Amino acid sequence: MTTKYDVIVIGGGPAGYHAAIRSAQLGLRTGCIDKWINASGQPAFGGTCLNVGCIPSKALLSASQKFFEAKKHFAEIGIKVADLSIDVPAMIKRKEKVVDNLTEGVASLLKANGVAILQGKAVLHAGRSVEFSSHDGEVSILEADHIIIATGSVPVNIPPCPLVDNMIVDSAGALDLREVPNRLGIIGAGIIGLELGSVWSRLGSEVILLEALEEFLPTADTNISREAARQFKKQGMDVRLGSLVTASSIKEGKVEVEYSCAERKEKESFDKLIVAVGRRPYTEELLAADSGVNLDERGFVYVDDYCNTGAPGIYAIGDVVRGPMLAHKGMEEGLMVAERIAGEKPQVNYETVPSVIYTHPEIAWVGKTEQELKASGEDYRVGSFPMAASGRAMANNETNGLIKVIADDSTDRVLGVHMICDHASELIAEAVIGMEFETSAEDLGLTMFAHPTISEGLHEAALAVSGRAIHVANRKRKK
Ligand code: FAD
Ligand code: AMP
Repeated sequence: MTTKYDVIVIGGGPAGYHAAIRSAQLGLRTGCIDKWINASGQPAFGGTCLNVGCIPSKALLSASQKFFEAKKHFAEIGIKVADLSIDVPAMIKRKEKVVDNLTEGVASLLKANGVAILQGKAVLHAGRSVEFSSHDGEVSILEADHIIIATGSVPVNIPPCPLVDNMIVDSAGALDLREVPNRLGIIGAGIIGLELGSVWSRLGSEVILLEALEEFLPTADTNISREAARQFKKQGMDVRLGSLVTASSIKEGKVEVEYSCAERKEKESFDKLIVAVGRRPYTEELLAADSGVNLDERGFVYVDDYCNTGAPGIYAIGDVVRGPMLAHKGMEEGLMVAERIAGEKPQVNYETVPSVIYTHPEIAWVGKTEQELKASGEDYRVGSFPMAASGRAMANNETNGLIKVIADDSTDRVLGVHMICDHASELIAEAVIGMEFETSAEDLGLTMFAHPTISEGLHEAALAVSGRAIHVANRKRKK
């Protein structure tokens, strides 16, 4: 017998579960299919983000930062700690507990909202018909007026570095190491590579990142990426740019890596190697030949601005479609699609998707970088504020970094906000809200910020756009 739904969501990661919950809230009969099996062999909702992505990485980043602080900086603020040591298995166990709480929480939320929980694999056929194979082997046919594809992404593997159990690992393996490697190699100095590198470097590993590109963090504003490179170097992370990894092998319990740099062949030996060279959209075994859904040239499910695939009643959201591979971008797409199915008219503002790198200091930005504006010939003004001039940053012993606001030269509308500082991941929301409401730098300057806070740095940077910052010398007008 065929079961009929109003909406079937394929994928229970952040994009999919948001779409499913909102659909059910809006009175649509909804089912959410997800095939994830976690490390304990149990089905689990939450996708990459909750199981092996955002959440576990932040649990380890938080724990490792506390350890690092205690070891390196407590003495500076008058706290003496004797016999400090790290218990990696306990840290990993606590991370798993956080993950289990949250993945079980998502299942409960789906249930509480009346979403049918369908744990197993989906294949999409013509006519919005879904072949569902449950984890216990039962196969059934489900139909829906609307199908939302949210199957996410998986790590890219590169031929020179096939994964080798517990020696050459991807990002998921890197979140599950049971001891601190003495020498850790990471291929790729992107967001994931830098976050994972930070975790193990803080715990004592010598970390070397091999990055093929000549430029460090090219998508960040250059002032921010330069400051980040300086901070990471100070922390002992060795980022080798222009280094293309060409081969790897395991010899006597070590990972031997070959790479080319400035036309020279180089070699390195590591205790572990993390491959963090990016992620690709995941559509394997999802689309039957007659599904009517098309992929673009890079393998993403093709969609328009409203996440319509072009096949009637079929939408796609999250990492499996164009745009930044970020959980919050997928969540907003999920809500938009569910609400549009219910007849509402929301849209996602892709101009204000915040990017965050959870290193220390944290890095965050929204909108255009100065180099993008320069390249497009727009006239702009810049205001920036060094955290060394912030009273709260001094009180917190966290004076590294800066905040930079870029505004249109004639309208003063804020075009981009870039920061590297403590709590940047939280602070960036203030800039996103401002830009969502098309704030001018003057509006931000006229807003009252609590004192003493790190946020005052944003206030000062906005004031600096018109040469009115109080605690710094103001940058000259820039055309
Ligand atoms: P996913 O989370 O990948 O979920 C897709 C789900 O669909 C999975 O459960 C999968 O099993 C299921 N599925 C796939 N095919 C089928 C099928 N045929 N049938 C049934 N189910 C299927 N993003 C941030 O915004 N902030 C961060 O701090 C951050 N940190 C990260 C750290 C790491 C180490 C990694 C790897 C990623 C991180 N990301 C972060 C990225 C974030 O995890 C992704 O952007 C997000 O998970 C994408 O959500 P999604 O719902 O599109 O897909
Ligand atoms: P991201 O896309 O942010 O996850 O970053 C992945 C990084 O890995 C990119 O900056 C790539 O340039 C880098 N990369 C990809 N392949 C290689 C390789 N073979 N050697 C070194 N770096 C690589």
